[in-house]
Parts: sequence; structure tokens; C-alpha cells
Amino acid sequence: MFLQFQGELLAPPCPCPRPLSSSSGGGGGDGIPAAARGVPYTPRPVYGGAGLLGRTVPAELRRGALVYTQPEPWALAAVRDAFEFDDDLDCGGLGGAQAAAAAAAAAVAAAAAAAGTAAAVVTLVTDVEYENLKAMAAAAAVALAEGKGQGKGHAPRAVFGIGGGTALDTAKFISAALALPLVLMPTLLSVAAGYTVAAGVREVRSCSGGTGGDGDGSSKAVSVAYVGDARPAHLLVDFDVLRAAPAALNLSGVGDLLSCYTALWDWEQAHARQGERFDGAAAARTRALLETLLSDDAADALREQTDDGLRLQSELFVEEVAICEAWGNARPEEGSEHYIGYALEQLTGAHYLHGRLIALCVVLTAAYQGQDTARIVAWLGRLGMDWSFAAVGTTRAEMRQVLLGIGDFVAKERQLLPGVFHFFGGVPEDRVDALLDVAEAPFKSAAARLRAVARSLVECERH
Ligand SMILES: [Zn+2]
Repeated sequence: MFLQFQGELLAPPCPCPRPLSSSSGGGGGDGIPAAARGVPYTPRPVYGGAGLLGRTVPAELRRGALVYTQPEPWALAAVRDAFEFDDDLDCGGLGGAQAAAAAAAAAVAAAAAAAGTAAAVVTLVTDVEYENLKAMAAAAAVALAEGKGQGKGHAPRAVFGIGGGTALDTAKFISAALALPLVLMPTLLSVAAGYTVAAGVREVRSCSGGTGGDGDGSSKAVSVAYVGDARPAHLLVDFDVLRAAPAALNLSGVGDLLSCYTALWDWEQAHARQGERFDGAAAARTRALLETLLSDDAADALREQTDDGLRLQSELFVEEVAICEAWGNARPEEGSEHYIGYALEQLTGAHYLHGRLIALCVVLTAAYQGQDTARIVAWLGRLGMDWSFAAVGTTRAEMRQVLLGIGDFVAKERQLLPGVFHFFGGVPEDRVDALLDVAEAPFKSAAARLRAVARSLVECERH
């Protein structure tokens, strides 16, 4: 067993498959195969309780495996269960390129030491920066070649991703680079990274004159690219592993399902207004997905994180990915709500829990589109997700600035497919506060109700 630590703490990028017209999604070069075209992928998860990985994945795939995971305790526990994990590790000290170089050297040494034994090589990852990933893939390729050179059975036979989006995307990238079988086991459902074939990777460039940054006068431009086509031999959904994660993280994943509500409107309007290519069958499937999601029964099961609730969330990810794969891009599930999220990230340089941010953006976008927001707000309330400005990590003032400038943002980001902010432009001054009120009112009224209860209790005390 060998442990390495690589990278600095960064939130995972949006896992959604990107529209094919996007400038991202490169692949090619660097040993990463370009995404397969014309072969739609439908994830086939295997469901079960504790010990699912050990029961499902053959022992020979686990022997000497390359395992990518994250430092969260519930993810480490899942790895320990499957790989006799040694938790004597130091997660401090290293970051960025320095860690990547150290990890690259260590991977070679570790694989050499592990050759011929059953020990897995476990790597903790906390970012998906492209340069680091390429260094890790190169080191793993050397280790693989050395293992093969020592004879049959001395080389890793599979790559495992056990964790959140960061671990899963890393494992997808490495398995595609090495052409080794892939095993994915999400330890939380905050993102759908386990269900998509491309790995989301971050490219960070230093630049000047931007907003955000580190407060030292310089700033960083971060872009997310989607590379490769990694299809897991096993996709494991272990209910007990998922329930070990904070419930709010799993629940936040619902934001990337709810996004269909506003993305579908964008698509239908782009078809009606501009004659954009449209598929009635894909739209009908997306509408059916939304009807399943937006029921009281679904909200209750998702909130309680029962086996049925977690299976439902997983199956809705499967359906969403299958719809997008069949259509060829993320048009059915990603639209203007995501554009608000991207604009906020660009404005502040901050990282957000993606699904929760998107839930807030769905409400704002739906209101601007003229759709029914009361149903969405009520459903989110039943779900128990806190999508207030404060919970998301933003403010009314920041979001006001984003909405006022969103017309310019989408005009500049030319890869974004047309949506409500293309059709109507940015939110005008005389409408922006009404829009923000739609997102703020549910929490103001909840706070007001609590204050009223507190007042009545004080009154009771006095009498
Ligand atoms: Zn998303």
C-alpha cells in the first residue's frame, strides 16, 4: 500500500457534459483519446449496501490497482473497506505543481515497490488541474510499463475512482490515458461525475487585470475542459457509503437535475425563435424526468436518503446522461441557469457547491423566463435544501451585479448556446430587484415565521 497526496483544496468543476459547440472538450494529444462519437453511453450502475465493491469487483482487478480517492473520512473509509487501507498519512504541505512532481516520482517508486504484491497504490487528490493530471498519467504509464516488464501479474490491472467528482474525474482521466479498465464508486452524489464519460479538468492561467484572484494583485483565469471517453467496467452505488456523506452534499446534486426546468425552456425557445435543431422525443423524456423529480414522493425519498431515494437520484442521473448522450450534447439539461453560475464564479473567483448554486440560479432564471417559480420553490422547501444567498455563499448585491451584466457575459462567451439572456438581454435595472425578491422571499418569510414563534414564546413566558 502506498499513499500520496497531490494538489490543493479546490471545489470540483461542473460535471455536466458540455454542448459540442463549446470550445472546451478538447481531448486529443497527451495520450487521451478523443470522445467517441456516435456511440451513446448509458450508465449501468450496480446497487447495494455495505461491501458492494468487494462483492462485485473481481479480486484480480483489485490486486495492485491504482486507486484515486479524496481525504474526506467517509471516502477513506470506503477505500479501507475494499483495499485494507492504511490511514497513516499526511495531507499537509504540498500543493499544485510541486505536489504533482512529487506524486509523479513517488508513483514510480511505489509501483516498483508494490510490483508482485497485492498492494494497491492509493493516491489522494484534491484538484483536477490538467497539468497535474498529465504528470500523474505519465508517471502511472511508467509504473505500468515497469510492472509489465517484470512479468505477468506485476502491473496494475485497473484504475479505481472512489470519492466525489475530483476522484472520479481523475480516475477517468488516468484510465483513459493508460487504457486500463475503470471502476467508479461515488461516495457522494453532489455531482454526476460518475455517470459521464468525459473527465472535467481545470486549466488555470495567471493573468492580470481580472477580477477575483488571490488578493495579491494577480488573478487566475480558470477554464474547465472535458476530455477523454472513459466508460466504467463497474459503476457501484453503495447506499451505505453514500449515507456516510453529509446529507446536504448528496442533496445538492439535485440542482443539476432541476436545471432541466430552465434548460428545456431555453432549448424550446431557441427552436421557436431561431430554428435551432430540436428533438421532440428528447424534450419529452426531459419533461418526464422533471415530472418524476418534482413530485412530493420524490422530494421525501431524496430528503430522507433512503435506499429508494438514493437509487432514484442515481437513476435520474442515468436518465439525464442518457438523454444528453442520445442527443449529442448537454442542451436538455444545461442552459441559462448555468450561465448565471459561471458569471458569478468569474466575478468573485470563488468556488461554490455546484448543485446548490444551480438550484438558486434555476429559480432566478425561471422567474426571468416567466415560468412558474412557486412550484420549484415549494418543492425545494419540501426537499429541505437551503439555496438562500447565504447558504450558496453569495449575497444579494453580488447576484444583482451578475444579473445586470449577464447579457454582456453571454455575448462574450460565444460558446454558450442561446438562452433567455440571449433573447431578452441582461436583466434591466427596473426588474432586477423583483427577480432577486423571488429568490429571497422564501427565506425571509421563513425567518419571519421563526421570529413570530419566538415572540409568541416570550409572550407565553410573560403570562
Ligand atoms: Zn452543472
